[in-house]
Amino acid sequence: MRPITEIIVHCTATRPDWWAKKPLKSQINEVRRWHVQDRGWSDIGYHYLIGRDGGMDVGRPIEKVGAHVKGHNTGTIGISLFGGAGASADDNFADHFTDEQSGALQSLILHLQKEYGPGLKMSGHNEYAAKGCPGFRVGPWWNSVQTEKPSGIIQPTNIIATIITAIMRALGVKK
Ligand SMILES: [Zn+2]
Repeated sequence: MRPITEIIVHCTATRPDWWAKKPLKSQINEVRRWHVQDRGWSDIGYHYLIGRDGGMDVGRPIEKVGAHVKGHNTGTIGISLFGGAGASADDNFADHFTDEQSGALQSLILHLQKEYGPGLKMSGHNEYAAKGCPGFRVGPWWNSVQTEKPSGIIQPTNIIATIITAIMRALGVKK
């Protein structure tokens, strides 16, 4: 396996309802056709693609160097989200993509971190080219979803701390 140091996120720049009734496989094959026939590449440029419903599939085999960012294909994994037509670099994730896509991208990143190490760098195409792609800032997005997560879940340690505080208060013990 080639060494992996970075994940670079993209979008397909398609409209939200593009090929909506077709399965993800067909959508991926259409992107493959653009890359192979129109650009003359050996295969689709991205390693993973994420559909509007959060479905995910493989594009180019991960052990092969991709074709997704000029000068940054060696050592990187390219992930592309379906959607993002007309996106600008500083838009919000939710302006162009679904909650299901957010969940799928997070699980895929966590999986890849497990596989290749937690130190994987995370970037968007817009950091390497004057492009909107993928339509949000990947670093800040990742930080926000990582900090958001615990707030929705009640932490057991917090419950215990609350109970102890309540008991101490009831007993008149000063903390
Ligand atoms: Zn891109």
